[in-house]
Amino acid sequence: MTLEEMWKAVSENNASYDGIFFYAVKSTGIYCRPSCKSKTPKRENVCFFNTAEQARAEGFRPCKRCRSDLLDYKPIKEIAEKVKRRLGDSFRKSCKLNRELRQLGISQRRMAEIFKGEYGITLSKYMSNLRLKEAKRLLSDTNDEIINIAYSVGFDRLSSFYRFFKNGTGLPPAAYRKECRK
Ligand SMILES: [Zn+2]
Repeated sequence: MTLEEMWKAVSENNASYDGIFFYAVKSTGIYCRPSCKSKTPKRENVCFFNTAEQARAEGFRPCKRCRSDLLDYKPIKEIAEKVKRRLGDSFRKSCKLNRELRQLGISQRRMAEIFKGEYGITLSKYMSNLRLKEAKRLLSDTNDEIINIAYSVGFDRLSSFYRFFKNGTGLPPAAYRKECRK
């Protein structure tokens, strides 16, 4: 990898380089991951390292923002994909979902940021889309009671499901089902 390429990754906060190299800022004494959202430093103050240990050995301190000290901190993309996969597996049960996401070991806020950054959509919006899609499928392909469909896509109240569904499709669930069967 050339210095130019690394500098470009840093100036673009390019997360796909996370874990591949680190950069340190001489004026602050801090080292960061390429994706760090801190203000882009001046080029002449930056030096590059292959590993966090090398940066530390040169006397740089880890950044509190991108947590460049956490060795097991997975590259952003991997986290985003993991979150996405878990949402896909368990969006139906919000409590189970929260537990699953907690196991990833990063804060909700950070996770939301990562997800938004990677997919350009918020976690909750993504989850709503999954729920809506599944609800539509159940309404059109099954004869399940609407209340059961509401439960199975993660709602514990019929009224919130109605509101959610109507917002998403413009139709109440029963009317949507009727439309599908025409
Ligand atoms: Zn940083």
